[in-house]
Amino acid sequence: VNRAFEQLRRRVAEVTDLEAVVMLLEWDFEVMMPRAATTVRGEQLATAERVAHERLTDPEVGRLLDELEPAVDGLDPDTFEASLVRVVRRDFEKARRVSADLRADLARAAADGHAVWVEARERSDFTRFRPALERNLELKLRYVACFDGYDDPYDVLLDDYEPDLKTAEAAEVLDRLREELVPLVAERTGEVLDDSFLTGTFPVQQQRELERRLLPLLGYDEETWRLDDIVHPAQFGLAPTDIRISTRYSEHTLESLFSVLHEFGHGLYERQVDPALTRTPLAGGASLGLHESQSRLWENLVGRGLPFCRFLYPQLQEAFPEQLGEITLDRFYRAINKVKPSLIRVDADEVTYNLHIVLRFELERELLGGRLPLDSLPDAWNERMHRYLGVEVPDDARGVLQDSHWSGGGFGYFPTYSLGNVASVQIWQRAREALPALDDDLERGDFSGLREWLRDVLHRNGRKFTPRETMERAAGAALDPGPYLDYLREKSAEIYRLTARK
Ligand code: ZN
Repeated sequence: VNRAFEQLRRRVAEVTDLEAVVMLLEWDFEVMMPRAATTVRGEQLATAERVAHERLTDPEVGRLLDELEPAVDGLDPDTFEASLVRVVRRDFEKARRVSADLRADLARAAADGHAVWVEARERSDFTRFRPALERNLELKLRYVACFDGYDDPYDVLLDDYEPDLKTAEAAEVLDRLREELVPLVAERTGEVLDDSFLTGTFPVQQQRELERRLLPLLGYDEETWRLDDIVHPAQFGLAPTDIRISTRYSEHTLESLFSVLHEFGHGLYERQVDPALTRTPLAGGASLGLHESQSRLWENLVGRGLPFCRFLYPQLQEAFPEQLGEITLDRFYRAINKVKPSLIRVDADEVTYNLHIVLRFELERELLGGRLPLDSLPDAWNERMHRYLGVEVPDDARGVLQDSHWSGGGFGYFPTYSLGNVASVQIWQRAREALPALDDDLERGDFSGLREWLRDVLHRNGRKFTPRETMERAAGAALDPGPYLDYLREKSAEIYRLTARK
């Protein structure tokens, strides 16, 4: 048995290495690569992915799992051995269902779809994108057909990002967000709150220097992390000792600051995984939703909270005296939390953000279920933007074409953003109970207590447990939108009461 376990471990270490190579190629594509290499890079990625898939689905992996399962049956499910066998079995069974041909078709359609989408978005023309979207949808339905035992075809797609969560469960959370947030947004939209000083001149050099001072306090160190410039901010966790985050700078806003906090949250999750899980499929986040709970926790619950603002704002005023010198902390805090319906998801505030997600979740379910013809998609998008957020969509580029997910076949991905928001508040409340001095610590710029608590209740477990169980362990409860909705209501009431008082 020991020998079989070592063999399995060696095999999955190879798969994990190859997956890290894929991610490194992707990081390089986004950050370093000369543009002319795009086509050859696509081939390199496809080769590396195919080899990783062949290694994972090798029948010998199945034989080793068959041999090891009875042996780990009596072990504590928390142990490394039991966890590795359980997780590899799951990955193996899923990977085996989908033929190499279909995988190659999906990858090619995603690459082509992305290229067409870039062009269509530039011209703001949905009809150019429509054939690529249709192809992606067809292939996704063929992918769904590789599986059985689901209640809803969407379950299969959601499972790739949020393992074991049913569509009906996700819908229960998102429906509730829609029901309660549409009226809240409508109520806040008419109120006056000045945030004009958040747009102006924020020299990029000063932004960089400020972030370089802030990041080490949060837990970033030059030995383990990198921060680079990129078009679409992201995090690449190659290993617990190789964390790469990226951001983009605008001279006119402070968006980079919040995007760095967001990506730092993703990176910290990967950084604090138990080092013993390195080079196994257990190193990494339990699901996209849980990953997003960590980025949102640092971006919003820390970053847009009053204690952290008390710590950071004097430094911001010093860095940008012309822009913020005359603005009080109160005004800054209110402005960065303003509820402001807008066209673009990635620019949305905490409250309106979820309605952008609800809309995409509903539309992609209707498309996959054949209930919404592709030709009607832009109109359906625009109609729902009006109904949920009260905004009029002027063109496809700022409407249905704004996000890249569908161009790459990423159906089922969107709901994880809102699930992450919901989980972030449940985990945050638990942190506050465990760390009574949290507010004081944040105000002093001491993040070690929070960082270590997150490591102990969540990060160190990596992918050992299902997202459901990981959530229970971290938050002490199942996913529940109640605390998140209470938080949004209380925070926006506080922000707007402050406004009334001036
Ligand atoms: Zn994120």
